[in-house]
Amino acid sequence: MSLLEVKDLKTYFHTKEGIVKAVDGVTFTLEEGEAIALVGESGCGKTTTALSITKLLPQEGQIAGGNVLFNGNDLVKIPHGKMRRTRWNEISIVFQGAMNSLNPVMKVGDQIIEAIMLHKGSSRMEAKKKVKELFELVEINSERIDQYPHEFSGGMKQRAMIAMALACDPKLIIGDEPTTALDVMVQAQILNLLEKLRKDLNMSMILITHDLSVMGETCDKAAIMYAGKIVELGSVENILEKHLHPYTEKLVQSFPDIYGTREMISSIPGSPPNLLNPPGGCLFHPRCEFATEECRSKEPVLKEVSPNHFVSCHVRGGVM
Ligand code: SF4
Repeated sequence: MSLLEVKDLKTYFHTKEGIVKAVDGVTFTLEEGEAIALVGESGCGKTTTALSITKLLPQEGQIAGGNVLFNGNDLVKIPHGKMRRTRWNEISIVFQGAMNSLNPVMKVGDQIIEAIMLHKGSSRMEAKKKVKELFELVEINSERIDQYPHEFSGGMKQRAMIAMALACDPKLIIGDEPTTALDVMVQAQILNLLEKLRKDLNMSMILITHDLSVMGETCDKAAIMYAGKIVELGSVENILEKHLHPYTEKLVQSFPDIYGTREMISSIPGSPPNLLNPPGGCLFHPRCEFATEECRSKEPVLKEVSPNHFVSCHVRGGVM
């Protein structure tokens, strides 16, 4: 049994203008200790997938179908109270710019101590000991436990948020663009830290990113998302070197290769579809140079083209 099985997940937003199918039939699995990246442009459904798994959707969002099996329990069906406990003890999430969510008038250590006491039922002394261990784990001197957020640098605050996410020893950590607000040097340090923690603690990770280099450095496999659907799913090597879907190809081409020849990187023409009024057939067809009549009229489905490599494309998705 996989640690996480997301099956045909559908999350819809009910807006004044109509229904937005933000996540529409997403399926993937995650094993213990494994890391998957959800990759794609803004609005492709990456964050909504994470918010659906953790059941932190805004009011207008609803899981309209599918299952999220975590250790065999369907999170879609479990009651609110049990989900709250699952969120801290089993699954935790680090949001983009999470460092700004620290309470500025409370000592950083106390904010984590409070979370541990609340969710683990630990005494203050036990929780403080745990926070000191967590600080060392995320490479912050444990003597800084009594400092306030304004005394921490941006990278340290993000490390503190990672420490908070680890406070209850979760089996799965979700990072929603956890390094986007940081400069490249600090970004590299945080990514290395996440990678090290994942291996040392045998944690699984879902990393949401639009950055293929972050995916390549940190994850085992990746799901490329477009307009609420997974269009390609496979190992990081498959995605970077043996990709088949034209959208994945465009994403890869839009990233510079430091070992390659010096040439202009290309951007992806057009923009993602308006999900209130999506095009028929393949949702990528208005931007795809290979589109055929079939692409405009019939939606492709995700098919396994080689072991553990799935592609959804009429032209490039033939079984090899
Ligand atoms: Fe392009 Fe057609 Fe494949 Fe869609 S199905 S990605 S339009 S070739």
